[in-house]
Amino acid sequence: MKKIALLYNQELEKYKYAEYHPLKRERIIYTMQKIKKYSKGVYENFIAEPASLEEMSLYHGEDYIRYLYEIENDKTKYIPNKYGIGTTDNPYFKGIFSTSAIHIGAVNLAADLIVKENYSDVFYFPGGLHHAKKNQAWGFCFVNDPVYAILRLLNYKKKVLYVDIDAHFCDGVACAFKNNPVNKKDLLIMSFHESGDFLFPGTGYIEENDSINFPLYPGTDDHTYLLNFKKVFDTVFDEFQPDVIIAQIGADSSKFDILSHLDLSLKGYLNIIKIISEKNVNKIWLGGGGYNNKFTSCAWSSAFRLVLGDIKAGDIKHNIKDLKAFNYAEKNYDFLAKNILLKPKLSEHLD
Ligand SMILES: [Zn+2]
Repeated sequence: MKKIALLYNQELEKYKYAEYHPLKRERIIYTMQKIKKYSKGVYENFIAEPASLEEMSLYHGEDYIRYLYEIENDKTKYIPNKYGIGTTDNPYFKGIFSTSAIHIGAVNLAADLIVKENYSDVFYFPGGLHHAKKNQAWGFCFVNDPVYAILRLLNYKKKVLYVDIDAHFCDGVACAFKNNPVNKKDLLIMSFHESGDFLFPGTGYIEENDSINFPLYPGTDDHTYLLNFKKVFDTVFDEFQPDVIIAQIGADSSKFDILSHLDLSLKGYLNIIKIISEKNVNKIWLGGGGYNNKFTSCAWSSAFRLVLGDIKAGDIKHNIKDLKAFNYAEKNYDFLAKNILLKPKLSEHLD
């Protein structure tokens, strides 16, 4: 019997990045609305409480965390571009500290629920901010919650497989465990993403060996993606034999996303979720990217319901209510693609 938890904190809905920014709080709000409205299976809701300053400084530098705290509470302390904050990608915004504290508190709780209370699946859709560096905001991410989830599980002596299907390479996670003896022994980082030749962050090539990388060409469709993903993921899982999987399930690999160029359908996306969900170990699921709010909320709420047992990946008919919004997204795609102001430029993002 699966024991499923959904973590959230409505405080997150108060805050937004800059008006022009493609990362919108609506994607999370719509996801939670759809889950509430359509889910039939049994799950428990938990409020993700903010982490303390001390907990937040476990990976990120104490000075960096203190700076986030200070600039939220006193804007006169804010210095444009310090620690990468104040760029178009990573704007200063009200809630910069509060939201970060909730993200870290959420993944700490997720790890505790997995280990201490044997939850089979713990979901936190606002998380998965896989780009943030130790002392730098990067790629729309201010704190790197996946790193905290990994550290907490390692601290519990668990062997962790981190799998990332976001369209962008998880450079912040790979960087956090670079040259760390734990990497490849008790932790394996695996990423399927659009090649750095075409998309931010411009890294994540096969030969970078901090993580198992599978760069994909623009236009990669369901068939090609799934064929490769199943083969690689099954092999990695069987050989590594993890105790826990952390899955970052960014929905920006879809054909409807406005920032990336992969070609997954909703059905293709859900089949990836199915492959991960069938592994018989406990899992933490983190949201990650997704810049078409309608598609992202369909994809995430459907992923949740698939794990819950409400729907099957291959049977879209069971998912018809979600698809109403999905079709709306399809109709508006051209408009969004033409009118979106911010597309990360590769040249600006190379380390
Ligand atoms: Zn992404």
